[in-house]
Amino acid sequence: MADNTAQEDTKARSMNFVEEEVWNDLQAGRNGGRINTRFPPEPNGYLHIGHAKAICMDFGIAERFGGTCNLRFDDTNPVKEDVEYVDSIRDDIHWLGFDWGDREYYASDYFPQLFDLAVRLIKEGKAYVDDQTSEQIAAQKGTPTQPGTDSPYRSRTPEENLDLFQRMNAGEFEEGSRVLRAKIDMSSPNMHFRDPIMYRIIKTPHHRTGTTWKVYPMYDFAHGQSDYFEGVTHSICTLEFVVHRPLYDYFVDELADSSYRPRQIEFNRLNLTYTVMSKRKLLQLVKEGLVAGWDDPRMPTISGMRRRGYTPRSIRNFIDTIGYTKYEALNSVSLLEHAVRDDLNRVATRGMAVLNPLKVVITNYPEGQVEEVEMENNPEDSNAGTHKMPFSREIYIERDDFMENPPKKFFRLAPGGEVRLKSAYIIRCENVVKDQQGNITELHCTYDPETRSGLPGASRKVKGTLHWVSAGHAVDAQVRLYDRLFNVENPAAETERDFRELLNPDSLKVVEHVKVEPFIASQAAQGTKFQFQRIGYFTPDADSTEENLVFNRTIALKDTWEKVQKNS
Ligand code: ATP
Ligand code: MG
Repeated sequence: MADNTAQEDTKARSMNFVEEEVWNDLQAGRNGGRINTRFPPEPNGYLHIGHAKAICMDFGIAERFGGTCNLRFDDTNPVKEDVEYVDSIRDDIHWLGFDWGDREYYASDYFPQLFDLAVRLIKEGKAYVDDQTSEQIAAQKGTPTQPGTDSPYRSRTPEENLDLFQRMNAGEFEEGSRVLRAKIDMSSPNMHFRDPIMYRIIKTPHHRTGTTWKVYPMYDFAHGQSDYFEGVTHSICTLEFVVHRPLYDYFVDELADSSYRPRQIEFNRLNLTYTVMSKRKLLQLVKEGLVAGWDDPRMPTISGMRRRGYTPRSIRNFIDTIGYTKYEALNSVSLLEHAVRDDLNRVATRGMAVLNPLKVVITNYPEGQVEEVEMENNPEDSNAGTHKMPFSREIYIERDDFMENPPKKFFRLAPGGEVRLKSAYIIRCENVVKDQQGNITELHCTYDPETRSGLPGASRKVKGTLHWVSAGHAVDAQVRLYDRLFNVENPAAETERDFRELLNPDSLKVVEHVKVEPFIASQAAQGTKFQFQRIGYFTPDADSTEENLVFNRTIALKDTWEKVQKNS
Protein backbone atom coordinates (compact mmCIF):
# COMPACT_ATOMS: atom_id res chain seq x y z
CA MET A 1 0.00 0.00 0.00
CA ALA A 2 1.12 3.55 -0.68
CA ASP A 3 2.40 5.31 2.41
CA ASN A 4 0.01 7.30 4.52
CA THR A 5 1.08 10.81 3.54
CA ALA A 6 0.63 10.00 -0.14
CA GLN A 7 -2.80 8.66 0.65
CA GLU A 8 -3.77 11.76 2.57
CA ASP A 9 -2.60 13.95 -0.34
CA THR A 10 -4.64 11.88 -2.69
CA LYS A 11 -7.66 12.12 -0.48
CA ALA A 12 -7.31 15.91 -0.36
CA ARG A 13 -7.94 16.35 -4.11
CA SER A 14 -11.49 15.76 -5.21
CA MET A 15 -12.19 12.27 -6.46
CA ASN A 16 -14.68 11.00 -8.97
CA PHE A 17 -16.99 8.21 -7.83
CA VAL A 18 -14.81 5.44 -9.26
CA GLU A 19 -11.79 6.82 -7.44
CA GLU A 20 -13.87 6.91 -4.26
CA GLU A 21 -14.59 3.20 -4.67
CA VAL A 22 -10.95 2.40 -5.28
CA TRP A 23 -9.95 4.52 -2.33
CA ASN A 24 -12.42 2.66 -0.10
CA ASP A 25 -10.95 -0.67 -1.23
CA LEU A 26 -7.48 0.61 -0.40
CA GLN A 27 -8.64 1.74 3.03
CA ALA A 28 -10.22 -1.65 3.65
CA GLY A 29 -6.94 -3.35 2.69
CA ARG A 30 -8.56 -5.39 -0.08
CA ASN A 31 -6.25 -7.38 -2.36
CA GLY A 32 -3.36 -6.66 -0.02
CA GLY A 33 -3.58 -2.95 -0.84
CA ARG A 34 -2.70 -3.57 -4.46
CA ILE A 35 -4.23 -1.47 -7.26
CA ASN A 36 -4.10 -2.87 -10.77
CA THR A 37 -6.37 -1.63 -13.54
CA ARG A 38 -6.40 -2.54 -17.22
CA PHE A 39 -7.38 -0.98 -20.52
CA PRO A 40 -8.87 -3.76 -22.68
CA PRO A 41 -9.29 -2.69 -26.32
CA GLU A 42 -10.40 -5.15 -28.93
CA PRO A 43 -7.95 -4.73 -31.84
CA ASN A 44 -10.75 -4.42 -34.39
CA GLY A 45 -10.39 -0.71 -35.14
CA TYR A 46 -8.53 2.44 -34.21
CA LEU A 47 -9.09 4.09 -30.86
CA HIS A 48 -11.45 7.06 -30.67
CA ILE A 49 -12.01 9.87 -28.22
CA GLY A 50 -14.39 7.63 -26.22
CA HIS A 51 -11.53 5.22 -25.65
CA ALA A 52 -9.43 8.18 -24.50
CA LYS A 53 -11.94 8.68 -21.71
CA ALA A 54 -11.52 5.05 -20.62
CA ILE A 55 -7.71 5.33 -20.96
CA CYS A 56 -7.61 8.43 -18.75
CA MET A 57 -9.67 6.59 -16.17
CA ASP A 58 -7.73 3.31 -16.21
CA PHE A 59 -4.23 4.78 -16.33
CA GLY A 60 -5.24 7.77 -14.21
CA ILE A 61 -6.41 5.59 -11.30
CA ALA A 62 -3.19 3.60 -11.40
CA GLU A 63 -1.12 6.81 -11.36
CA ARG A 64 -3.14 8.37 -8.61
CA PHE A 65 -3.08 5.43 -6.24
CA GLY A 66 0.43 4.16 -6.94
CA GLY A 67 -0.84 1.13 -8.84
CA THR A 68 -0.27 -0.30 -12.29
CA CYS A 69 -2.37 -0.42 -15.43
CA ASN A 70 -2.17 -3.27 -17.93
CA LEU A 71 -2.76 -2.94 -21.62
CA ARG A 72 -4.73 -6.02 -22.56
CA PHE A 73 -5.76 -6.69 -26.10
CA ASP A 74 -9.12 -8.39 -26.01
CA ASP A 75 -8.37 -10.49 -29.08
CA THR A 76 -11.09 -13.10 -28.85
CA ASN A 77 -12.56 -12.72 -32.33
CA PRO A 78 -10.02 -13.43 -35.10
CA VAL A 79 -12.55 -12.56 -37.80
CA LYS A 80 -12.39 -8.83 -37.07
CA GLU A 81 -8.96 -8.34 -35.58
CA ASP A 82 -5.66 -7.32 -37.08
CA VAL A 83 -2.10 -6.40 -36.03
CA GLU A 84 -2.49 -3.03 -37.76
CA TYR A 85 -4.95 -2.17 -35.03
CA VAL A 86 -2.67 -3.47 -32.28
CA ASP A 87 0.11 -1.16 -33.47
CA SER A 88 -2.15 1.87 -33.78
CA ILE A 89 -3.58 1.31 -30.31
CA ARG A 90 -0.09 1.26 -28.78
CA ASP A 91 0.86 4.49 -30.60
CA ASP A 92 -2.29 6.27 -29.56
CA ILE A 93 -1.99 5.43 -25.86
CA HIS A 94 1.62 6.57 -25.82
CA TRP A 95 0.71 9.77 -27.61
CA LEU A 96 -1.92 10.50 -24.99
CA GLY A 97 0.90 10.31 -22.46
CA PHE A 98 0.39 6.94 -20.80
CA ASP A 99 2.62 3.91 -20.56
CA TRP A 100 2.01 0.31 -19.54
CA GLY A 101 5.68 -0.62 -19.20
CA ASP A 102 6.07 -4.36 -19.69
CA ARG A 103 2.46 -5.10 -18.82
CA GLU A 104 1.20 -5.79 -22.33
CA TYR A 105 -1.13 -8.76 -22.40
CA TYR A 106 -3.49 -10.53 -24.75
CA ALA A 107 -6.68 -12.37 -23.92
CA SER A 108 -5.37 -14.99 -26.33
CA ASP A 109 -2.51 -15.64 -23.85
CA TYR A 110 -5.19 -17.13 -21.60
CA PHE A 111 -6.84 -19.40 -24.15
CA PRO A 112 -5.25 -22.51 -22.57
CA GLN A 113 -6.37 -21.54 -19.05
CA LEU A 114 -9.82 -20.56 -20.26
CA PHE A 115 -10.15 -23.86 -22.07
CA ASP A 116 -9.11 -25.74 -18.94
CA LEU A 117 -11.67 -23.85 -16.90
CA ALA A 118 -14.36 -24.67 -19.45
CA VAL A 119 -13.41 -28.33 -19.23
CA ARG A 120 -13.63 -28.18 -15.47
CA LEU A 121 -17.08 -26.57 -15.59
CA ILE A 122 -18.22 -29.26 -18.06
CA LYS A 123 -16.99 -31.99 -15.71
CA GLU A 124 -18.79 -30.36 -12.81
CA GLY A 125 -22.04 -30.28 -14.79
CA LYS A 126 -21.95 -26.46 -15.09
CA ALA A 127 -21.63 -26.25 -18.87
CA TYR A 128 -23.06 -28.08 -21.88
CA VAL A 129 -22.78 -28.25 -25.63
CA ASP A 130 -25.87 -27.00 -27.45
CA ASP A 131 -26.44 -28.14 -31.04
CA GLN A 132 -29.05 -25.50 -31.80
CA THR A 133 -28.60 -22.53 -34.08
CA SER A 134 -28.17 -19.09 -32.57
CA GLU A 135 -31.72 -18.24 -33.76
CA GLN A 136 -33.18 -21.19 -31.88
CA ILE A 137 -31.22 -20.29 -28.78
CA ALA A 138 -32.37 -16.67 -28.99
CA ALA A 139 -35.98 -17.78 -29.40
CA GLN A 140 -35.75 -19.73 -26.12
CA LYS A 141 -34.28 -16.82 -24.15
CA GLY A 142 -37.68 -15.56 -22.95
CA THR A 143 -38.18 -11.93 -21.98
CA PRO A 144 -37.30 -10.01 -18.83
CA THR A 145 -40.78 -10.91 -17.48
CA GLN A 146 -41.04 -14.40 -18.97
CA PRO A 147 -38.68 -17.24 -18.17
CA GLY A 148 -36.73 -18.90 -20.96
CA THR A 149 -37.09 -22.46 -22.20
CA ASP A 150 -34.53 -25.19 -21.57
CA SER A 151 -32.53 -26.34 -24.53
CA PRO A 152 -33.22 -29.97 -25.49
CA TYR A 153 -29.44 -30.53 -25.06
CA ARG A 154 -29.31 -29.12 -21.55
CA SER A 155 -29.24 -32.50 -19.81
CA ARG A 156 -26.36 -34.02 -21.74
CA THR A 157 -23.92 -35.93 -19.55
CA PRO A 158 -20.54 -34.37 -18.72
CA GLU A 159 -18.85 -37.16 -20.71
CA GLU A 160 -20.82 -36.41 -23.84
CA ASN A 161 -20.30 -32.65 -23.40
CA LEU A 162 -16.57 -33.08 -22.93
CA ASP A 163 -16.29 -35.25 -26.00
CA LEU A 164 -18.27 -32.78 -28.11
CA PHE A 165 -16.38 -29.74 -26.82
CA GLN A 166 -13.04 -31.33 -27.61
CA ARG A 167 -14.25 -32.26 -31.07
CA MET A 168 -15.52 -28.70 -31.56
CA ASN A 169 -12.00 -27.49 -30.87
CA ALA A 170 -10.50 -30.16 -33.14
CA GLY A 171 -12.39 -28.63 -36.04
CA GLU A 172 -14.85 -31.48 -36.59
CA PHE A 173 -17.92 -29.23 -36.69
CA GLU A 174 -18.93 -26.30 -38.79
CA GLU A 175 -19.05 -22.74 -37.51
CA GLY A 176 -22.45 -22.02 -35.98
CA SER A 177 -23.36 -25.67 -35.58
CA ARG A 178 -22.64 -25.93 -31.85
CA VAL A 179 -21.81 -23.72 -28.88
CA LEU A 180 -20.76 -24.31 -25.30
CA ARG A 181 -23.17 -22.77 -22.81
CA ALA A 182 -22.97 -22.23 -19.08
CA LYS A 183 -25.70 -24.16 -17.29
CA ILE A 184 -27.02 -21.54 -14.89
CA ASP A 185 -30.71 -20.63 -14.79
CA MET A 186 -33.14 -20.28 -17.70
CA SER A 187 -35.64 -18.47 -15.51
CA SER A 188 -33.25 -15.97 -13.90
CA PRO A 189 -34.61 -12.42 -13.86
CA ASN A 190 -31.20 -11.39 -15.24
CA MET A 191 -31.29 -12.44 -18.87
CA HIS A 192 -27.51 -12.80 -18.91
CA PHE A 193 -27.86 -15.76 -16.56
CA ARG A 194 -30.04 -17.71 -18.94
CA ASP A 195 -27.36 -20.18 -19.94
CA PRO A 196 -25.01 -17.68 -21.62
CA ILE A 197 -22.79 -18.84 -24.45
CA MET A 198 -19.20 -19.43 -23.36
CA TYR A 199 -17.59 -20.64 -26.58
CA ARG A 200 -18.30 -20.54 -30.30
CA ILE A 201 -16.60 -22.20 -33.25
CA ILE A 202 -14.48 -19.92 -35.47
CA LYS A 203 -12.18 -21.30 -38.14
CA THR A 204 -10.52 -18.07 -39.26
CA PRO A 205 -6.85 -18.14 -38.19
CA HIS A 206 -5.98 -15.89 -35.26
CA HIS A 207 -3.34 -13.16 -35.66
CA ARG A 208 -1.39 -14.53 -32.70
CA THR A 209 -2.39 -18.14 -32.14
CA GLY A 210 -2.82 -19.15 -35.78
CA THR A 211 -4.93 -22.29 -36.18
CA THR A 212 -4.34 -23.69 -32.67
CA TRP A 213 -7.91 -23.00 -31.62
CA LYS A 214 -11.20 -23.63 -33.32
CA VAL A 215 -13.28 -22.48 -30.38
CA TYR A 216 -13.15 -18.92 -29.05
CA PRO A 217 -14.47 -17.62 -25.72
CA MET A 218 -17.23 -15.03 -25.56
CA TYR A 219 -16.65 -11.70 -23.83
CA ASP A 220 -18.46 -12.66 -20.61
CA PHE A 221 -16.45 -15.81 -20.18
CA ALA A 222 -13.11 -14.29 -21.18
CA HIS A 223 -13.09 -10.89 -19.59
CA GLY A 224 -13.37 -11.48 -15.86
CA GLN A 225 -11.19 -14.56 -16.09
CA SER A 226 -8.48 -12.61 -17.92
CA ASP A 227 -8.72 -9.94 -15.22
CA TYR A 228 -8.24 -12.68 -12.65
CA PHE A 229 -5.29 -14.35 -14.37
CA GLU A 230 -3.58 -10.95 -14.64
CA GLY A 231 -4.15 -9.91 -11.05
CA VAL A 232 -6.38 -6.98 -12.00
CA THR A 233 -8.09 -5.50 -8.96
CA HIS A 234 -10.41 -2.97 -10.61
CA SER A 235 -12.00 -3.72 -13.94
CA ILE A 236 -13.43 -0.36 -14.95
CA CYS A 237 -15.76 -0.28 -17.91
CA THR A 238 -18.77 1.52 -19.33
CA LEU A 239 -22.37 1.45 -18.13
CA GLU A 240 -23.70 -1.08 -20.64
CA PHE A 241 -21.82 -3.69 -18.62
CA VAL A 242 -23.76 -3.06 -15.41
CA VAL A 243 -26.15 -5.86 -16.39
CA HIS A 244 -23.20 -8.16 -17.06
CA ARG A 245 -21.66 -7.61 -13.64
CA PRO A 246 -23.49 -10.49 -11.86
CA LEU A 247 -22.21 -12.84 -14.55
CA TYR A 248 -18.71 -11.37 -14.22
CA ASP A 249 -18.90 -12.19 -10.51
CA TYR A 250 -20.38 -15.63 -11.16
CA PHE A 251 -17.44 -16.70 -13.32
CA VAL A 252 -14.86 -15.03 -11.06
CA ASP A 253 -16.34 -17.05 -8.18
CA GLU A 254 -15.21 -20.18 -9.99
CA LEU A 255 -11.59 -19.03 -9.60
CA ALA A 256 -11.22 -16.57 -6.75
CA ASP A 257 -10.45 -17.26 -3.12
CA SER A 258 -10.70 -14.85 -0.20
CA SER A 259 -7.23 -13.35 -0.72
CA TYR A 260 -7.89 -11.73 -4.08
CA ARG A 261 -10.70 -10.94 -6.45
CA PRO A 262 -11.19 -8.37 -9.21
CA ARG A 263 -14.28 -6.18 -9.23
CA GLN A 264 -16.06 -4.39 -12.02
CA ILE A 265 -17.03 -0.69 -11.77
CA GLU A 266 -18.90 1.16 -14.52
CA PHE A 267 -18.99 4.80 -15.70
CA ASN A 268 -20.79 6.62 -18.51
CA ARG A 269 -19.56 6.36 -22.08
CA LEU A 270 -18.44 9.41 -23.94
CA ASN A 271 -20.86 10.39 -26.67
CA LEU A 272 -20.08 13.50 -28.70
CA THR A 273 -22.35 15.64 -30.83
CA TYR A 274 -22.00 15.61 -34.64
CA THR A 275 -20.09 12.36 -34.78
CA VAL A 276 -20.44 8.62 -34.30
CA MET A 277 -18.47 6.52 -31.87
CA SER A 278 -19.33 3.04 -33.05
CA LYS A 279 -16.28 1.23 -34.34
CA ARG A 280 -18.48 -0.64 -36.78
CA LYS A 281 -19.67 2.61 -38.34
CA LEU A 282 -16.21 4.17 -38.33
CA LEU A 283 -14.90 1.08 -40.09
CA GLN A 284 -17.64 1.46 -42.69
CA LEU A 285 -16.62 5.08 -43.35
CA VAL A 286 -13.04 3.94 -43.90
CA LYS A 287 -13.86 0.85 -45.98
CA GLU A 288 -16.28 2.71 -48.23
CA GLY A 289 -13.85 5.58 -48.79
CA LEU A 290 -16.20 8.13 -47.26
CA VAL A 291 -13.20 9.44 -45.34
CA ALA A 292 -9.52 9.22 -46.24
CA GLY A 293 -8.69 6.62 -43.59
CA TRP A 294 -8.83 5.99 -39.84
CA ASP A 295 -6.64 9.05 -39.35
CA ASP A 296 -8.69 11.35 -41.52
CA PRO A 297 -8.69 14.63 -39.56
CA ARG A 298 -12.51 14.62 -39.50
CA MET A 299 -12.68 11.29 -37.70
CA PRO A 300 -13.27 11.15 -33.93
CA THR A 301 -10.27 8.80 -33.71
CA ILE A 302 -7.19 9.67 -31.67
CA SER A 303 -5.08 9.34 -34.81
CA GLY A 304 -7.45 11.64 -36.70
CA MET A 305 -7.32 14.24 -33.97
CA ARG A 306 -3.54 13.98 -33.82
CA ARG A 307 -3.28 14.49 -37.57
CA ARG A 308 -5.64 17.41 -37.37
CA GLY A 309 -3.43 19.07 -34.77
CA TYR A 310 -5.22 18.44 -31.48
CA THR A 311 -2.81 18.12 -28.57
CA PRO A 312 -2.86 15.29 -26.03
CA ARG A 313 -3.25 17.84 -23.29
CA SER A 314 -6.35 19.33 -24.86
CA ILE A 315 -7.96 15.90 -25.02
CA ARG A 316 -7.06 15.12 -21.43
CA ASN A 317 -8.32 18.51 -20.26
CA PHE A 318 -11.58 17.96 -22.09
CA ILE A 319 -12.04 14.60 -20.40
CA ASP A 320 -11.32 16.18 -17.03
CA THR A 321 -13.94 18.80 -17.74
CA ILE A 322 -16.75 16.40 -18.60
CA GLY A 323 -15.91 14.05 -15.74
CA TYR A 324 -17.32 10.61 -14.97
CA THR A 325 -20.88 9.86 -13.91
CA LYS A 326 -23.34 6.97 -13.69
CA TYR A 327 -25.69 8.42 -16.31
CA GLU A 328 -25.43 8.36 -20.09
CA ALA A 329 -25.14 11.77 -21.72
CA LEU A 330 -24.31 13.45 -25.00
CA ASN A 331 -21.42 15.89 -24.68
CA SER A 332 -21.13 18.91 -26.90
CA VAL A 333 -18.19 18.82 -29.29
CA SER A 334 -17.79 22.55 -28.61
CA LEU A 335 -16.41 21.65 -25.16
CA LEU A 336 -13.69 19.65 -26.87
CA GLU A 337 -13.05 22.49 -29.30
CA HIS A 338 -12.80 24.91 -26.42
CA ALA A 339 -10.14 22.73 -24.78
CA VAL A 340 -8.25 22.54 -28.09
CA ARG A 341 -8.26 26.32 -28.56
CA ASP A 342 -7.27 26.83 -24.99
CA ASP A 343 -4.19 24.64 -25.27
CA LEU A 344 -3.18 25.77 -28.75
CA ASN A 345 -3.42 29.38 -27.66
CA ARG A 346 -0.73 28.55 -25.13
CA VAL A 347 1.59 26.60 -27.42
CA ALA A 348 1.00 27.67 -31.03
CA THR A 349 3.63 29.66 -32.93
CA ARG A 350 2.14 32.80 -34.46
CA GLY A 351 2.63 33.44 -38.12
CA MET A 352 0.97 35.14 -41.06
CA ALA A 353 -0.82 33.40 -43.88
CA VAL A 354 -3.30 34.75 -46.38
CA LEU A 355 -5.96 32.27 -47.42
CA ASN A 356 -7.64 34.25 -50.16
CA PRO A 357 -4.99 36.67 -51.40
CA LEU A 358 -5.53 40.12 -52.89
CA LYS A 359 -2.40 41.89 -54.11
CA VAL A 360 -1.57 45.32 -52.73
CA VAL A 361 1.07 47.50 -54.40
CA ILE A 362 2.50 50.17 -52.11
CA THR A 363 3.25 52.78 -54.70
CA ASN A 364 5.44 55.07 -52.59
CA TYR A 365 7.59 52.23 -51.25
CA PRO A 366 10.93 51.97 -53.09
CA GLU A 367 11.02 49.28 -55.71
CA GLY A 368 13.40 46.43 -54.83
CA GLN A 369 13.63 47.42 -51.16
CA VAL A 370 13.04 44.78 -48.50
CA GLU A 371 13.03 45.34 -44.77
CA GLU A 372 12.39 42.91 -41.98
CA VAL A 373 9.81 43.41 -39.30
CA GLU A 374 9.89 41.58 -36.01
CA MET A 375 7.04 39.25 -35.05
CA GLU A 376 6.35 37.81 -31.64
CA ASN A 377 6.24 34.00 -31.80
CA ASN A 378 3.79 33.65 -28.97
CA PRO A 379 2.51 36.43 -26.73
CA GLU A 380 1.35 33.76 -24.24
CA ASP A 381 4.87 32.44 -23.78
CA SER A 382 7.64 34.85 -22.81
CA ASN A 383 10.30 32.29 -23.83
CA ALA A 384 8.97 31.81 -27.33
CA GLY A 385 11.07 34.61 -28.87
CA THR A 386 10.51 36.41 -32.15
CA HIS A 387 11.08 35.89 -35.82
CA LYS A 388 11.64 38.18 -38.76
CA MET A 389 9.23 38.70 -41.61
CA PRO A 390 10.06 40.46 -44.88
CA PHE A 391 8.13 43.56 -45.93
CA SER A 392 8.26 44.87 -49.48
CA ARG A 393 6.47 46.94 -52.09
CA GLU A 394 4.02 44.19 -53.03
CA ILE A 395 2.10 42.34 -50.42
CA TYR A 396 -1.00 40.16 -50.12
CA ILE A 397 -3.91 40.83 -47.84
CA GLU A 398 -7.08 38.81 -47.37
CA ARG A 399 -9.66 39.57 -50.09
CA ASP A 400 -12.34 39.79 -47.37
CA ASP A 401 -10.40 42.56 -45.68
CA PHE A 402 -11.21 44.97 -48.50
CA MET A 403 -14.62 46.31 -49.45
CA GLU A 404 -15.29 48.78 -52.16
CA ASN A 405 -18.58 49.93 -50.66
CA PRO A 406 -18.23 49.10 -46.99
CA PRO A 407 -21.04 49.26 -44.45
CA LYS A 408 -20.70 51.71 -41.58
CA LYS A 409 -18.79 49.64 -39.04
CA PHE A 410 -16.33 48.11 -41.48
CA PHE A 411 -12.95 48.69 -39.86
CA ARG A 412 -10.86 47.09 -42.54
CA LEU A 413 -9.64 48.53 -45.83
CA ALA A 414 -11.84 50.60 -48.16
CA PRO A 415 -11.13 53.22 -50.84
CA GLY A 416 -9.54 56.23 -49.19
CA GLY A 417 -9.38 54.42 -45.84
CA GLU A 418 -6.44 53.48 -43.64
CA VAL A 419 -5.45 50.29 -41.82
CA ARG A 420 -2.36 49.12 -40.01
CA LEU A 421 -0.44 46.17 -41.38
CA LYS A 422 0.36 44.13 -38.30
CA SER A 423 3.90 44.89 -37.04
CA ALA A 424 4.54 47.16 -40.05
CA TYR A 425 3.08 50.39 -41.44
CA ILE A 426 -0.21 52.16 -41.82
CA ILE A 427 -1.36 52.12 -45.44
CA ARG A 428 -4.05 54.07 -47.29
CA CYS A 429 -6.02 52.71 -50.22
CA GLU A 430 -5.64 55.10 -53.13
CA ASN A 431 -6.84 53.14 -56.12
CA VAL A 432 -8.76 49.96 -56.95
CA VAL A 433 -7.56 48.12 -60.06
CA LYS A 434 -10.06 45.93 -61.93
CA ASP A 435 -10.04 43.62 -64.92
CA GLN A 436 -12.42 43.88 -67.86
CA GLN A 437 -15.12 41.90 -66.05
CA GLY A 438 -14.96 44.32 -63.15
CA ASN A 439 -13.19 41.93 -60.74
CA ILE A 440 -10.76 43.56 -58.39
CA THR A 441 -7.25 42.44 -59.31
CA GLU A 442 -5.14 44.62 -57.04
CA LEU A 443 -5.12 47.67 -54.84
CA HIS A 444 -2.75 50.57 -55.04
CA CYS A 445 -1.93 51.98 -51.66
CA THR A 446 0.52 54.39 -50.07
CA TYR A 447 2.25 53.87 -46.77
CA ASP A 448 3.15 56.29 -44.00
CA PRO A 449 6.88 55.72 -43.34
CA GLU A 450 6.63 57.19 -39.84
CA THR A 451 4.25 54.53 -38.52
CA ARG A 452 6.47 51.50 -38.18
CA SER A 453 6.91 50.36 -34.57
CA GLY A 454 9.73 52.21 -32.87
CA LEU A 455 9.16 55.31 -35.00
CA PRO A 456 7.35 58.45 -33.80
CA GLY A 457 4.19 57.76 -35.80
CA ALA A 458 3.77 54.25 -34.47
CA SER A 459 1.23 55.35 -31.92
CA ARG A 460 -1.08 56.86 -34.52
CA LYS A 461 -4.44 55.20 -34.18
CA VAL A 462 -6.37 53.50 -36.95
CA LYS A 463 -9.37 51.25 -36.45
CA GLY A 464 -8.24 48.11 -38.21
CA THR A 465 -5.17 45.92 -38.23
CA LEU A 466 -4.65 43.38 -40.99
CA HIS A 467 -2.42 40.39 -41.45
CA TRP A 468 -0.39 40.30 -44.66
CA VAL A 469 2.56 38.62 -46.35
CA SER A 470 5.19 39.94 -48.72
CA ALA A 471 4.20 38.78 -52.22
CA GLY A 472 7.74 38.14 -53.41
CA HIS A 473 8.64 36.10 -50.34
CA ALA A 474 5.47 34.20 -49.53
CA VAL A 475 5.39 30.44 -50.11
CA ASP A 476 2.44 28.67 -51.69
CA ALA A 477 0.61 26.10 -49.61
CA GLN A 478 -2.51 23.99 -49.67
CA VAL A 479 -4.83 24.36 -46.73
CA ARG A 480 -7.52 21.89 -45.70
CA LEU A 481 -10.48 23.31 -43.85
CA TYR A 482 -12.61 20.89 -41.85
CA ASP A 483 -16.14 21.11 -40.66
CA ARG A 484 -18.26 18.64 -38.70
CA LEU A 485 -18.40 15.18 -40.19
CA PHE A 486 -22.17 14.89 -39.69
CA ASN A 487 -24.98 17.33 -40.24
CA VAL A 488 -27.10 16.22 -37.31
CA GLU A 489 -26.36 16.60 -33.64
CA ASN A 490 -26.82 12.97 -32.68
CA PRO A 491 -26.42 10.69 -35.71
CA ALA A 492 -26.70 7.58 -33.54
CA ALA A 493 -30.25 8.57 -32.58
CA GLU A 494 -31.46 8.85 -36.18
CA THR A 495 -33.13 5.53 -36.70
CA GLU A 496 -35.07 6.44 -39.85
CA ARG A 497 -32.09 7.13 -42.07
CA ASP A 498 -28.81 5.36 -42.74
CA PHE A 499 -26.03 7.17 -40.90
CA ARG A 500 -24.14 7.71 -44.16
CA GLU A 501 -26.94 9.92 -45.42
CA LEU A 502 -26.29 12.22 -42.49
CA LEU A 503 -22.71 13.00 -43.51
CA ASN A 504 -21.92 16.66 -44.03
CA PRO A 505 -20.99 17.03 -47.73
CA ASP A 506 -18.97 20.16 -46.91
CA SER A 507 -16.86 18.65 -44.14
CA LEU A 508 -13.66 19.17 -46.16
CA LYS A 509 -12.74 22.22 -48.20
CA VAL A 510 -9.36 22.35 -49.91
CA VAL A 511 -7.86 25.77 -50.57
CA GLU A 512 -4.92 26.03 -52.96
CA HIS A 513 -2.36 28.82 -53.35
CA VAL A 514 -2.56 30.01 -49.82
CA LYS A 515 0.33 32.42 -49.16
CA VAL A 516 2.36 31.74 -46.03
CA GLU A 517 5.26 33.76 -44.71
CA PRO A 518 8.70 32.12 -45.18
CA PHE A 519 9.07 31.43 -41.45
CA ILE A 520 6.01 29.17 -41.49
CA ALA A 521 7.36 27.28 -44.48
CA SER A 522 10.69 26.81 -42.74
CA GLN A 523 9.08 25.38 -39.60
CA ALA A 524 6.55 23.08 -41.22
CA ALA A 525 8.76 20.02 -41.44
CA GLN A 526 9.04 19.97 -37.66
CA GLY A 527 5.30 19.57 -37.25
CA THR A 528 5.03 22.92 -35.50
CA LYS A 529 1.57 23.99 -34.36
CA PHE A 530 0.74 27.41 -35.76
CA GLN A 531 -1.70 30.14 -35.22
CA PHE A 532 -2.20 31.83 -38.57
CA GLN A 533 -3.03 35.23 -37.22
CA ARG A 534 -6.71 36.15 -37.34
CA ILE A 535 -7.57 32.86 -39.07
CA GLY A 536 -7.08 29.91 -36.80
CA TYR A 537 -4.82 27.12 -35.65
CA PHE A 538 -3.05 25.11 -38.31
CA THR A 539 -0.75 22.12 -38.32
CA PRO A 540 1.28 20.60 -41.15
CA ASP A 541 -0.46 17.53 -42.52
CA ALA A 542 1.19 14.13 -42.93
CA ASP A 543 1.03 14.75 -46.70
CA SER A 544 3.07 17.94 -46.44
CA THR A 545 6.51 18.03 -48.10
CA GLU A 546 9.08 20.75 -48.58
CA GLU A 547 7.92 21.23 -52.19
CA ASN A 548 4.21 20.90 -51.47
CA LEU A 549 3.21 22.37 -48.16
CA VAL A 550 -0.10 21.15 -46.78
CA PHE A 551 -1.70 22.46 -43.62
CA ASN A 552 -4.75 21.25 -41.74
CA ARG A 553 -6.86 23.81 -40.05
CA THR A 554 -7.14 22.34 -36.59
CA ILE A 555 -9.76 24.85 -35.57
CA ALA A 556 -10.79 28.38 -36.38
CA LEU A 557 -10.22 31.22 -33.98
CA LYS A 558 -13.34 32.10 -32.13
CA ASP A 559 -13.30 35.84 -31.77
CA THR A 560 -10.80 36.79 -34.42
CA TRP A 561 -11.69 40.36 -34.92
CA GLU A 562 -11.93 41.54 -31.31
CA LYS A 563 -8.68 39.82 -30.53
CA VAL A 564 -6.74 41.59 -33.20
CA GLN A 565 -8.14 44.91 -32.13
CA LYS A 566 -6.84 44.32 -28.65
CA ASN A 567 -3.45 42.89 -29.58
CA SER A 568 -2.43 45.26 -32.32
P1 ATP B 1 -16.81 -2.94 -29.53
O1 ATP B 1 -16.60 -3.75 -28.28
O2 ATP B 1 -18.22 -2.80 -29.96
O3 ATP B 1 -15.89 -3.29 -30.64
P2 ATP B 1 -15.91 -0.75 -27.93
O4 ATP B 1 -16.02 0.68 -28.30
O5 ATP B 1 -16.51 -1.24 -26.68
O6 ATP B 1 -16.44 -1.46 -29.19
P3 ATP B 1 -13.41 -1.86 -27.03
O7 ATP B 1 -12.16 -2.01 -27.79
O8 ATP B 1 -14.05 -3.07 -26.50
O9 ATP B 1 -14.40 -1.10 -28.00
O10 ATP B 1 -13.23 -0.78 -25.89
C1 ATP B 1 -12.16 -0.81 -24.97
C2 ATP B 1 -12.53 -0.06 -23.72
O11 ATP B 1 -12.89 1.27 -24.05
C3 ATP B 1 -13.71 -0.68 -23.02
O12 ATP B 1 -13.41 -0.75 -21.64
C4 ATP B 1 -14.84 0.25 -23.29
O13 ATP B 1 -15.76 0.27 -22.23
C5 ATP B 1 -14.12 1.59 -23.45
N1 ATP B 1 -14.90 2.46 -24.32
C6 ATP B 1 -15.30 2.21 -25.57
N2 ATP B 1 -16.04 3.21 -26.06
C7 ATP B 1 -16.12 4.14 -25.09
C8 ATP B 1 -16.76 5.42 -24.97
N3 ATP B 1 -17.47 5.94 -25.96
N4 ATP B 1 -16.61 6.10 -23.81
C9 ATP B 1 -15.89 5.59 -22.80
N5 ATP B 1 -15.28 4.39 -22.84
C10 ATP B 1 -15.38 3.67 -23.97
MG1 MG C 1 -16.15 -3.58 -26.16
